Amino acid sequence: MAKKYIVVTGGVLSGIGKGILSASTGRLLKELGIHVLGVKIDPYLNVDAGTMNPNQHGEVFVTEDGYEADLDLGHYERFIGLNMRKENNITAGQVYSSVIAKERGGKYLGSTVQIVPHVTGEVKERLNQIDAEVVIIEIGGTVGDIEGEVFLEAIREMVLEKGKDNFLFIHITYVPYLKVTSEFKTKPTQQSIQLLRRIGIQPDIIAARSELPIEPPEIRKIALFAGIKPEMVINLPDNKNVYEVPRNLHNMRFHTIILDRLQLTASQDFHWDYPTMFKPLKIGIIGKYLGTDDAYKSIIESIFLCGVEKPTLLDAQELEEMNEEEIHLLLNEFGGLIIPGGFGKRGIEGKLKAIRYARERLKPLLGICLGMQLMILEFARNQIGWKEADSSEFDPETKLPLIDMMEDQKKILQMGGTMRLGAQRTPIFKNTKLYEVYGRQEEAYERHRHRYEVNWELCRPFLKFREEVRPEDPDPCLIVGSKSEFVESVELEDHPFFIGVQYHPEFQSKVGHPHPLFLSFIRSINGESKGGSL
Ligand code: GLN
Repeated sequence: MAKKYIVVTGGVLSGIGKGILSASTGRLLKELGIHVLGVKIDPYLNVDAGTMNPNQHGEVFVTEDGYEADLDLGHYERFIGLNMRKENNITAGQVYSSVIAKERGGKYLGSTVQIVPHVTGEVKERLNQIDAEVVIIEIGGTVGDIEGEVFLEAIREMVLEKGKDNFLFIHITYVPYLKVTSEFKTKPTQQSIQLLRRIGIQPDIIAARSELPIEPPEIRKIALFAGIKPEMVINLPDNKNVYEVPRNLHNMRFHTIILDRLQLTASQDFHWDYPTMFKPLKIGIIGKYLGTDDAYKSIIESIFLCGVEKPTLLDAQELEEMNEEEIHLLLNEFGGLIIPGGFGKRGIEGKLKAIRYARERLKPLLGICLGMQLMILEFARNQIGWKEADSSEFDPETKLPLIDMMEDQKKILQMGGTMRLGAQRTPIFKNTKLYEVYGRQEEAYERHRHRYEVNWELCRPFLKFREEVRPEDPDPCLIVGSKSEFVESVELEDHPFFIGVQYHPEFQSKVGHPHPLFLSFIRSINGESKGGSL
């Protein structure tokens, strides 16, 4: 059977939930027994999201095959429950650089290389590589953006080539409500539909996002302008729990529209389990990218998927100037703390203070990537007394680089896609807390994104395998929970939860399967959310 395509475009504003709608549609179809995959098209000229600032663009999501992707791939993975790969994210940067490389390689010998047909051809070639019964193509940005045009043109060509019956277009827009006049405004939606039509694309479904439920007269108005039946306009009012969206879509019979239109049949009944109750545990993320919640998206969602309320983002830099008493006043109310990944020096001293507080006050703490590296530095400085302990990332001249650049990283000059990236196998050592976290599993396959590593030789005096600890060693020692070529995890024994990992467990959480590190972290907090007793 011919491959089917669902194309999701956006109008009016960006950030209105195209990613969630695409991922939810994917899950809805998956639950009905259809093999579905998503592709996110990012019209920016970056080759990948690796060099983009999380403050503006949100987190960089790392796929299993080591690609630094837009965070929407994280939505796809969590919702659809499948691992995405490099080919599930197409950027204009990738497309143009490969067209230019082909031109230099003589592949188009004799021809004038043009947007149409060469760039559009490259886009189509990449889209064709995605193999699934239904491919959901989400186009980043909003219709009318200059960068997005080439992608829409490529899709228009695909429709001509593959037949209109194999395509379904969903256009998601925002319908603002004007309080002063108590009315919904459909004009921006009308205009964005017109823009889409001008490119030669007729939407089949309008997904109207709004703060409050939209009234039937407005729905009819949108339908009229779009040239579709009113039942093809679906309203998606704001929803606090995004994981409800697949169920809401099912309740609205959204799947019947899709199945009818694309001539697909469901082979199983819809069933969707997602967290609905959220424990009011207070979890603090000591971060430094505070421009948007999206900077720590996968961590926040991992906690949410454990059935716990949204964590609080704390500014690491604010902690830097605080004394012990102030730190206590700020952090005491948190049941547990997370030190997330990050790059560069800013906020480091604040994170170190939070780690010290959690270590000394027995507050559950999970350190991720940079977080683990800092747990080692904090331990060396304050427990062992090596005040000079540092990472060469923060001080390239340091005499005590307990965290140092990986050997093969030293030769790399180019940025983007050059770190230690993607999933790698790592053994989990018996008799460690990590081993219990993983349900006594002896190995794990975890995703990485880092350039620096633990300097094993320098840390040896206090960093030990469980069975080699001797009475003459510092008490306590940091215990290695996992080590491949590099130290992958450290932990403290006499602590409710003090575990750091060099990898990123947050990228592996899926609905129904939050990563065990988050589950165990939360279990260690359970019941202590009010704090104060330690
Ligand atoms: N900056 C650190 C490194 O490159 C940590 C990276 C991260 O937290 N993802 O090793």
